[in-house]
Formats: sequence, C-alpha cells, structure tokens
Amino acid sequence: MISIEDAQRNILEYITPLETEKVSVFQGLNRITPEDHVAPWDIPAADNSAMDGFAFSHAALSGESLRVTGFLPAGEVGSVPVPAGGAIRIMTGAPIPPGCDTVVPLEDVEEDGESIRFISKIKTGSHVRKRGEDIQRGNIVIPAGALLRPQEIGMLSAMGTTALAVYRRARVAILATGDELLEPGSTPAPGKIINSNSYSLAAQVLDAGGDPVLLGIAPDALDATCDKIKGGLNADMLVITGGVSVGDRDFVKEAIEKLGGSVTFWKVNVKPGKPLAFAMLQGKPVFALAGNPVGAMVAFELFVRPSILKSMGHRRLFRPMVKALLQEPAVNKGERPHLVRGMVSLRDDHYHVSTTGNQSSGRLSSMIQGNGLIRLAPNAVHTVGEEVEVLLLDRRFEMKEAMQ
Ligand code: AMP
Ligand code: MG
Repeated sequence: MISIEDAQRNILEYITPLETEKVSVFQGLNRITPEDHVAPWDIPAADNSAMDGFAFSHAALSGESLRVTGFLPAGEVGSVPVPAGGAIRIMTGAPIPPGCDTVVPLEDVEEDGESIRFISKIKTGSHVRKRGEDIQRGNIVIPAGALLRPQEIGMLSAMGTTALAVYRRARVAILATGDELLEPGSTPAPGKIINSNSYSLAAQVLDAGGDPVLLGIAPDALDATCDKIKGGLNADMLVITGGVSVGDRDFVKEAIEKLGGSVTFWKVNVKPGKPLAFAMLQGKPVFALAGNPVGAMVAFELFVRPSILKSMGHRRLFRPMVKALLQEPAVNKGERPHLVRGMVSLRDDHYHVSTTGNQSSGRLSSMIQGNGLIRLAPNAVHTVGEEVEVLLLDRRFEMKEAMQ
C-alpha cells in the first residue's frame, strides 16, 4: 500500500498550471495572479491630513494660538501658502499645503472667531500621512503567485488596475456510477439510493475555486461508462465516484483503459478513501474515487483538491495540519492510518478536538458535525488530553495557520 503523501506527490507531478485569462479586478477575487503588480505611483500621492483639523507650521508657532486664514476640503489643493504663524482649516485626506507640516485635530482646539487655541501639546508632524508611507512607486506590491483577497483587490484598484490576468478556473467534470443511483428529486425505490456524491463533490470543487460540470450517472456497464467518460474529457479534469473496487460490476478502470488511459491503481494506506485510481487520459487527469460518500469526500480532500489548486496557480496546496488536545479517548484498532472526522474548536490558543461518533464510511452524517480529520496512526490508543494531529477543514482557522 502507498502512503497518502506518496500518492499526492505522484499525482501532483502530472498537474500543470492552466492558462491565464483577463478578468475585471473584482473577478480576480480568490484567484492567483501570474504576474507582479508594481505600484505606478506613491500612495498617498502627497502628504495629507489624517484628521479634520487645522494645518500649520510647527516651527513658526509662537504661543498657544493661531489665526485661521482659509479652508481646504478633501479633493482640493491649497495653492496659496499659509502665512507663517497662521493655520488653515483642513479636512481628512486634503494635501498638506505648502508651508505646513503639522495638523491639530478639531477636538484638540478651542475656536474663537478667526483664531484657534490649543488645548493640548502638539508634536511636529502629527496627524500627517506622509507621501508614499503606504506604498512606494516602483515597488512590487503584489507578487506573482499571490492569492487575491479583498485587500489585494482594494490595493490593485488603488494602483489604478481595472482588469488583470489570473489563472483560469479549472473545469472539473464529475461522474457518478452505479445502477442503484437515482438523481435527487426522486423518491428512492427499493434497492435504489440517491446520488449524493456528485453534489458533495461538485460543492467541493466550487469550494476549491473550480467550476464543476455534472455528467450525471453512468450505469454499471462498460460501454455506457466509456461514453460518459468521453463526455467529460472537454473539462480540465474528471472525477469519477464508485465502480473502482474489485466488484463484478466495477467497470471504471476498464473503461479508462479502453479509452487509452493507463491507470495507476493504488490501495492508499488510509481509512476511509483507500481505493484510488489515477490516470492521464488524452492529457487530462482522471481521478476514480471510492463510492462510499465519506470515502469519496475524504479522497477528494486528499488528492483532488490539491490538484485543482495547483492547476489554478496556487502555491499553498494543502490544508493546515495542527496538533489538538483530545476531548475523549480515541483508538485505531486497524493497520491503516484512520482519518476520523472530528469537531475542532480553538480555546485558550489550543485546538481541542472530539470525534463525531460512528465513523462508518457510508455515514455522511459523520462529516456533518465535523470540521477536521483526526489522523490516528495504526494501532494507536489515545486517552483524554493527549495531542493528536488534525487536518483542519474549517476556513475559520485557515488565516490563523497561514500566519504561523
Ligand atoms: P461502489 O464503490 O460503487 O461499490 O460503491 C460503494 C458504496 O457507495 C455503495 O453502497 C454505493 O451504493 C455507494 N455509492 C456509490 N456511488 C454513490 C453516489 N454517487 N452517491 C451516494 N452513494 C454512492
Ligand atoms: Mg458501484
């Protein structure tokens, strides 16, 4: 059996970045830039006031009061120099006029007709935002490979960008297999179940930033499976669920081979998600995952999600793995590492984790309560309070881990 990490490494070697496309700056959100973005100007472009108040020259100050000689709102430039010993009423964001270097906020003065009196002491240069203090012209502000979050979108806009190149979204075709499957909307007849995997997988594709293409259900028959697979080869990748084990009616591997793909089949040393077939078929990666609802989702997490991210230019391909304190005993009697669905919380700067109960790989409910996967080594026996490794599936923790 091959380890999770070796299977991931082997697969990722085949995954190359997709092309880039030009999108409006908004549509760049959560995408990766293939190029550096260099500041075309200083931000701020000029020294300006950080407060509504009065601008004056600190050196020319004599005594506690100043005569107010004009008014400068945001959006205008003071053309007349402020006379020495005078002040100009200035609004936040307005450029500091020639001859001034300091701003006193409105709330720190008493106004008396044409003049103002300071209530407290004012330091030279206070409440002035200096030219270029945020961004300096010519600097790389957003490097190639960066993930564009709302703050990057704002910065790109401040640099005058309206459209930019990003790696395009991966189109991921999804095929369910099985004579027992019915699409949601029907009531299961005897012997039938609803195809839920197509939808959990499609949601996982969306969640990874990809664009799912639903191919429907292939019956358990070779030619029909081939036809459905062919229909998926217009996409950038194909994910198949079910039909990949050794049952009499498992045709997925045979179908991929019949279409010319050479299939690597692994029994991955993990529970759930053990059966995994991977092939390059007409240049497209094809993943055949377990049919069990939990096995399919976990295998997607481990193998498909990193592939989608790599194809879309991401550098960070894996979810964070952290140490968490067990809230209950946990035992793995098996010979394979067990990824137990767990509920992770963060308290006093420590992660805590409990399991979600019954871990049968057919029980999707074990994923519902969970937001992480506890990795239990083979034959592990853990008591309450011991540290275990947890793969965090919860976005809320991602930022914290990215900052470590
Ligand atoms: P298989 O790998 O095809 O033998 O399927 C294993 C188990 O997963 C069986 O109990 C199937 O009924 C179930 N299963 C397979 N495909 C799906 C699906 N698309 N949605 C929900 N359950 C499925
Ligand atoms: Mg099946």
